[in-house]
Amino acid sequence: MTDQVTATAQAIDIEALKERYSLERGRRDPSKSPRSYRDMRADFTQMLDDPYADAISRDPVDDEVDVLIVGGGFGGLMTAARLREAGVERIRIIEVGGDVGGTWYWNRYPGAACDVESYVYFPLLEETDYMPKERYSKAAEIREHSQRIAKHFGLYDLALFSTQVTSVIWHEETCMWRIETNRNDNIGARFVVLTTGPLNKPKLPAIQGIEDFKGHSFHTSRWDYNYTGGSATEPMTNLSDKRVAIIGTGATAIQCVPPTARDAEHLYVFQRTPSSVDARNNAPTDPEWASNLTPGWQKRRIESFTAQFTDRLDIENEVDDGWTVLANAVRGKLAAGRPVSEAAKLLEEADYEKMVQIRERIETIVDDKETAEALKPWFSLYCKRPCFHDEYLPTFNRENVTLVDTQGLGVEKVTIKGLVVDGEEHEVDCIIYATGFEVASDFAKRAGFDLRGVDGLTLPEKWSEGMSTFHGLHARGFPNIFFISQAQSGMSVNFPHMLSVQSEHLAHIVQECLERGIKRVEASASAEEEWTDKIVELSGDRIEFLEACTPGYYNNEGGRLDLAARSMPFGGGPLAFIEILKDWRANGEFEGLELDGGSTPKKENT
Ligand code: NAP
Repeated sequence: MTDQVTATAQAIDIEALKERYSLERGRRDPSKSPRSYRDMRADFTQMLDDPYADAISRDPVDDEVDVLIVGGGFGGLMTAARLREAGVERIRIIEVGGDVGGTWYWNRYPGAACDVESYVYFPLLEETDYMPKERYSKAAEIREHSQRIAKHFGLYDLALFSTQVTSVIWHEETCMWRIETNRNDNIGARFVVLTTGPLNKPKLPAIQGIEDFKGHSFHTSRWDYNYTGGSATEPMTNLSDKRVAIIGTGATAIQCVPPTARDAEHLYVFQRTPSSVDARNNAPTDPEWASNLTPGWQKRRIESFTAQFTDRLDIENEVDDGWTVLANAVRGKLAAGRPVSEAAKLLEEADYEKMVQIRERIETIVDDKETAEALKPWFSLYCKRPCFHDEYLPTFNRENVTLVDTQGLGVEKVTIKGLVVDGEEHEVDCIIYATGFEVASDFAKRAGFDLRGVDGLTLPEKWSEGMSTFHGLHARGFPNIFFISQAQSGMSVNFPHMLSVQSEHLAHIVQECLERGIKRVEASASAEEEWTDKIVELSGDRIEFLEACTPGYYNNEGGRLDLAARSMPFGGGPLAFIEILKDWRANGEFEGLELDGGSTPKKENT
């Protein structure tokens, strides 16, 4: 076992830690320092321009397809691949970026890499006959793999790139969706799949004076190599005489701080809440291990990884890395004789113990005591995305790096020359916003288009009292459309796992409908109500956990969570969710869906 939890529950005072966590949460209370954001689409559109694509000009497309997929990231690629396997040919993918890849198209900042093991993160490794070079891959290799999937399944011919969908409107008379874009395309589609991703809309904090800054600024998801020079792999030579600020210390900042510190004259890192940062221990793929893998290995490994975040600890931990330490710790406690009935308590203990270790590790790496203290995270491991990096913490030992800890309050003000914290101005030439993505806004608004279902229904209207879906995929009033998200659906820290599950499921439904001549599929009112009730019923533990967490995008920035119960992932866990979908397909009745036209669907061969 790697990264074993060493501290013991007896040796630490959990009650005292709970108080400290609560204190740290309180310091970040949104009523004390607002955690609001600016809509970049409204005020900073130039910062959203695609720096990676050449301008294209093409004639508008006016056609009709069986399935239109909005989004060319992993979700869109897997959906198209599964549809292709199911014999569906008339597909279109519309993607705002200049190529496939989604999040990996946009995020090319220096140091960008995947913190989940590549062997479980990369989709369709066996199908595309590819083995990642390293255990934790750099962004460029992941982008290349997206392209590999697109080529392998012949998806490039189906895609319209650098194209923003502007409206998706249901037409009852034809049972078709009509999709319009900013390139004047007008496409009819029997089915639509919305796979726009949870992290597609970069955000800027609403800091006073943000427009006043006279230097250069950009968001990490649009890294400006024209300004910095270099590339993700080459030194950013233009920074050698620049004072640079990075705002934010989330998963993105952890990765881009070390290379920026290496190249800038001086780097100021503005921190509101430190991340938990554990060892990375990356390594090249062992060719002998790879050559001994047997067919079906990837699915087994993916499911084994996801199982470590559920109560299925009987499933062997094949990945066994920093993500799964708590599962290992609980196993250890059970082996030492603690009863299974205490599983939740054991997990809580393991969490406190792990965080003690994370904080102690900082002291052993960061020389300056005050800086080390400021870098310590005081929250549960899964309150924010756990980070893994071997160079981030040592970066704070560099002479040219200053940690500006905002004591949980955030940057106070932006001036024409720099940033103010606690009344002190820090003059810089460049501000880099590592401030993340909008997750809380309406699905279609976040994706940037107008979505109207039956009788012009919009999602905010439908979900004015909170979300309601069937299986997270179907929403009544929006026939023939599939929503790909984690809300009311399965959730895994390994995002592509659930994308794969959802894409397989919807491909089955689409294939059946097309084969049987079913023109219209809509969730029944009772199925939607039952599923939503189940989501709420099973959300209690997660809501309680999130309420105690330090604010961030996982918990609505520490704001109200009363409507959140309905947007939670399926609380029975991802493996149980997979079983529910499998059983539903095997049952063959399309239970919970109202079908118009065509013959009865058939049972899936199991
Ligand atoms: P993020 O986790 O939302 O982090 C944003 C950071 O900006 C936080 O540290 C936040 O502080 C800080 N911040 C916001 N406003 C601020 C202000 N006014 N002053 C000072 N600091 C401010 O965004 P992210 O780092 O881009 O990561 C987003 C997600 O992308 C991750 O959770 C993960 O899912 C994904 N990601 C994945 C990988 C990977 O390896 N697979 C790598 C990078 C990102 P608070 O914590 O106080 O809010």
